[in-house]
Amino acid sequence: MKYDFSDRINKLPPYLFLEIDKKKKEAIKKGVKIIDFGVGDPDLPTPEFIRNKMKHAVDDPDNHGYPFGEGLLEFREAVAVWYKHRFEVDLDPEKEIHSLIGSKEGIGHLPLAFVNPGDGVLCPEPGYPVYNGSTIIAGGEPIFMPLVEKNRFLPSLESITPEAAAKAVIMFINYPNNPTGACADRAFYEDVVAFAREHNIIVAHDAAYSELYYGESKPMSFLEVPGAKDVGIEFHSLSKTYNMTGWRIGWVCGNADIIKGLSKVKGNVDSGAFNAVQVAAVEALNGPGKYTNEIRSVFRQRRDIMVKGLKELNMNIVAPEATFYLWVRVPEKYTSVVFAAKLLDEAGIIASPGNGFGPSGEGYIRFSLTVDRDEINEALQRMSNLEW
Ligand SMILES: *Cc1c(COP(=O)(O)O)cnc(C)c1O
Repeated sequence: MKYDFSDRINKLPPYLFLEIDKKKKEAIKKGVKIIDFGVGDPDLPTPEFIRNKMKHAVDDPDNHGYPFGEGLLEFREAVAVWYKHRFEVDLDPEKEIHSLIGSKEGIGHLPLAFVNPGDGVLCPEPGYPVYNGSTIIAGGEPIFMPLVEKNRFLPSLESITPEAAAKAVIMFINYPNNPTGACADRAFYEDVVAFAREHNIIVAHDAAYSELYYGESKPMSFLEVPGAKDVGIEFHSLSKTYNMTGWRIGWVCGNADIIKGLSKVKGNVDSGAFNAVQVAAVEALNGPGKYTNEIRSVFRQRRDIMVKGLKELNMNIVAPEATFYLWVRVPEKYTSVVFAAKLLDEAGIIASPGNGFGPSGEGYIRFSLTVDRDEINEALQRMSNLEW
């Protein structure tokens, strides 16, 4: 028998970190102690108070049935309170908040609700690959918006052609940004709202890193800008904020009609997030701020050690104000892939080549600070023995 993948699956881009993965396995086989700055999965455990709540919630038979798609009311209410407190934005838990099985799930399903064959979706590049992949799976065409340093890694709305603007039905944006670590300001979000209104485009803001900030000013919600709720939604996740990547819980909030569309897709493909996980998520959202402060302070320390160390190695780097990523220019004579391979071959260090996130990422590598301080120091030590 021969089974052909669908055209849409064949159109998905290849996995660009394949070569690095292969080298990683070879190095491990040879007994090299790898230091892995590759994947963005926190190495820290979920805080104990959340785990304890989960243990109790698992024993409660009320939590054993199918969850409701939109999520427990208790969960949506906790999100509304958290949102008001954090962003001064009012959300109606009945219509403007919907649970997700991790924000990736919502991002992955959104285009299926709004994209017809031939429609365009504006996707940042370099960027989280799911925007592009979910667009293709829905039969749409990704229209890439380059994020470059001279524009502070914000997409240039003026550079979007009238044809592209007319074709686009969704615009994905993501701040604090993976992979660049950049943050957006109010003026940018205001421009996005005006652009979306003018061209009748849904804005889908991915705020997965809103709580991993290190500067004085906290990242804002896209929904803080007047008119944002008329044109858009915002994705949030407990994964990065509370070290809960494996738990699969997040939410989408904002425009009720857009959420209704996404909810229709979800109603046909999933049955919601495990109620016990939602109960634990409520505990997390209501929990004392000291845990998120602690998580931030761990990543801040790591960031400071790594930035200082890389500067001493003459690397061109700016400390990010948010996220646990360092977006570092590779020395000029190397491409991203060649430099990443050099780090792995000569120092047992894994970092992601920037072009894996899109062509504008060429010339950069991304370090994910999801390894502990000792390993960071060890990595800096190993790098100091390299020549570049
Ligand atoms: C990690 C990540 C997410 C997804 O998180 P979930 O675990 O699915 O909630 C979404 N967007 C970006 C940019 C991420 O890096």
